[in-house]
Amino acid sequence: MELSRIEKEQIIEEIIYELKAKRDGGNKNLICRCPFCKKDGKFGIYIGRETGRKSPFMSHCFSCGSSTTTLKKLLETIGRMDILVTPTANPGARLETLLVFAGDEDESIDDSLNIVELPDFHKRCFSHDYLKSRGFTYDDYECFPVGITGRLNYKFNDYVIFPVIDEGDIVGYVARHTWSKSEIEAYNRKAKTKGNYRILRFRNSTENDFTRLLYNYDSIIDGQTDTVIIVEGIFDVVALVRKMELYDNRRIVVIATFGKKISHTQIYKLQSKGIETVVLGYDGDAVEAIKKISGELSRYFNVLIADIPNPEKDWEDLSYEEIYRVFAYGLKTPLEYSINKIQQ
Ligand SMILES: [Zn+2]
Repeated sequence: MELSRIEKEQIIEEIIYELKAKRDGGNKNLICRCPFCKKDGKFGIYIGRETGRKSPFMSHCFSCGSSTTTLKKLLETIGRMDILVTPTANPGARLETLLVFAGDEDESIDDSLNIVELPDFHKRCFSHDYLKSRGFTYDDYECFPVGITGRLNYKFNDYVIFPVIDEGDIVGYVARHTWSKSEIEAYNRKAKTKGNYRILRFRNSTENDFTRLLYNYDSIIDGQTDTVIIVEGIFDVVALVRKMELYDNRRIVVIATFGKKISHTQIYKLQSKGIETVVLGYDGDAVEAIKKISGELSRYFNVLIADIPNPEKDWEDLSYEEIYRVFAYGLKTPLEYSINKIQQ
């Protein structure tokens, strides 16, 4: 695997810390207690440059004879798989890698989608009290179509409905109730005793699995967009585009994966439009998910993590200055992130 000089040095430092190892005189090996037989000073880990016979992080115990031949095996042995960065695939290689990937993981990629009808009486709106309360501006209504059904369709009364569009077709929608979580819970407690219907916070389309969809996908233009910022939900997309004024930016596009997860199909959809760099912008509380997903994404893209320092906050809560600071000073590689970040 190809590690940059800095990444290699970071991994060496972590191993030294973990195993209380010492560098030998020539700085070619780390010497420490053997993780297999526990003998002190008998376990050597090669840290020199790649040669015909040796590659970095091969290890061997001169007492019990145990050895490991790859960094992965070594980190498995010492229980520190978290510091393993997945090698970055050549983003130019694109689809070929994914075919291997699909066979590999026993998850075939099916990106076929059905066209979905929006709920009856849906009409687009350009002003709405609830959306205004969440900071929507005129540009937001222009760029991110949203609608309501009005009272003619009681099921969607008090919902705002965002179509999910893919190659110009509506392939799903997210309908969100405009009451707060606590208002909905209070209503539902009463509804239960009266035998009335409960209110659902979300009443989304069901025709296509959301793991096949990406919000704002059509803003990615093949040949023009090289970077996507991945966030959890639609309101994160809108907030980030508004606060960073990315409305007309073709190079950088913000998309949502509908939660703290990304499927192989979603990865495939990004690759097939030529995306090279992915900035992972999930909420600050998603530490473990971010570690896992950034490792997986590193197989296909250059990956950076936009680390929101406060785990309580998401993109909607942050001011322009706070967001600027995250992108100007707070972008981390997956390795830096997994070393520095401990689940809160
Ligand atoms: Zn040993």
